[in-house]
Amino acid sequence: MRNVTNVNQELSELDKKHFLHPTSPIKQQQEHGPAFIFTKGDGVYLEDVNGNRVIDGMSSLWNVNIGHGRKELGQAAMEQMNELAFSSCFATFSNEPAIRLAAKLAEITPGDLSTTFFTSGGSESNDTAYKLARHYWILKGMPQKKKIISCEKSYHGVAMGATSATGLKPFRDFTNSLAPDFYYTEHLSAQALRETIEAEGPETIAAFIAEPVQGAGGVHIVSEDYFKEVRELCNHYNILLITDEVITGFGRTGKAFGMEHYGVTPDMMCLAKGITSGYAQLGGVVLSESIHKDFMERSNGTLLHGYTYSGHPMACAVALRNIEIIENENLVENARNMGEEMLKGFQWIQGERDLVGEVRGLGLMGAVEILSQGKEPLAPAIVNEAASRGLICRSVVFDNQDTLVFAPPLTINKQEVEQMIEILHDAIHAIEHNL
Ligand code: PMP
Repeated sequence: MRNVTNVNQELSELDKKHFLHPTSPIKQQQEHGPAFIFTKGDGVYLEDVNGNRVIDGMSSLWNVNIGHGRKELGQAAMEQMNELAFSSCFATFSNEPAIRLAAKLAEITPGDLSTTFFTSGGSESNDTAYKLARHYWILKGMPQKKKIISCEKSYHGVAMGATSATGLKPFRDFTNSLAPDFYYTEHLSAQALRETIEAEGPETIAAFIAEPVQGAGGVHIVSEDYFKEVRELCNHYNILLITDEVITGFGRTGKAFGMEHYGVTPDMMCLAKGITSGYAQLGGVVLSESIHKDFMERSNGTLLHGYTYSGHPMACAVALRNIEIIENENLVENARNMGEEMLKGFQWIQGERDLVGEVRGLGLMGAVEILSQGKEPLAPAIVNEAASRGLICRSVVFDNQDTLVFAPPLTINKQEVEQMIEILHDAIHAIEHNL
């Protein structure tokens, strides 16, 4: 039998030396090594190399919507790989899983969204949307329309365009040369968007992009009318509306897609994460029928945008099976019901613990504000405490926030929500006690 402690130590040393982690504190990694080296997943639980079992209160990166360990997805991947692991979708080549998935997305996405360009993830979806929006205006004879407006506190990924569109400033400050023609407007305010559009000049603006619910920025939920007003502004000023449903798609908010809460259809919708529940790398941009029609009618040459893995057969086969599971197991409805339970739990903690300020939730996206009252943020310490007690969640400390965010798998049941709430309460209590 292998010695678990030795394996952990060996992996930890190799990790420190050879693995530059994404979005991670380098010094902490070098001092402590990885906190968890996961080896197994089962439903809402993850297990590490030492046998520690924790609730994955973030669905890892807001993406494992159907939960861990679903053998059906392994089966779908294996069958497709054995049949046809890869073939090109460039030019006139195609494959059945990509075609069927594109058709399925047309069926389940809102309004007249009908045609998908496939990518390998959210950042690529965002960069694709900005390029397609600009290309659209070139085709329409308005090449001066190239500015992209996004929201403060937004997160759109780390490719060059996506970084440039990201409203959270530390991500932009990470590098010292951004893509041109990106502008920012105050989040949650349609009036602010109108002012930004007028200040920049609507004749120079290609698109406005927003998340239906801001995720990485701290789970901020817009007012009911916000997107209706945004849609009207975009129509009025001839600006495309792109929504980034990378987190909110595929049931996360208690509707199939986040925009369904607001009854608004965008011109383009960016997808990733929950499209495969993380079982394969896939994203996409879904275009409205009218945008697609303009592309078909006005484009003479080649659409010079395509990733090697656009329409990857195995990833698309996994997505189809994943969507089938979300539908057959009524996971959107479960997200709505369990989201209510989670929010009730947060409200109970709010009543019990002085450290807790505002609590928010929409479906299974939730936030708990910590009242550090201008001192060092406490959310990171609570995250560590919760992890040691068996719950993974995330802290958001950008923009003077001190907030915990949550996004458990859509398969979570009442008992597991209660377990999550209990651990969270005890972790906050322990930190409060140490102050
Ligand atoms: N958009 C949003 C709203 C996201 O939350 C993320 C990832 N957290 C991205 C885009 C980027 O996706 P990816 O990491 O797959 O490139």
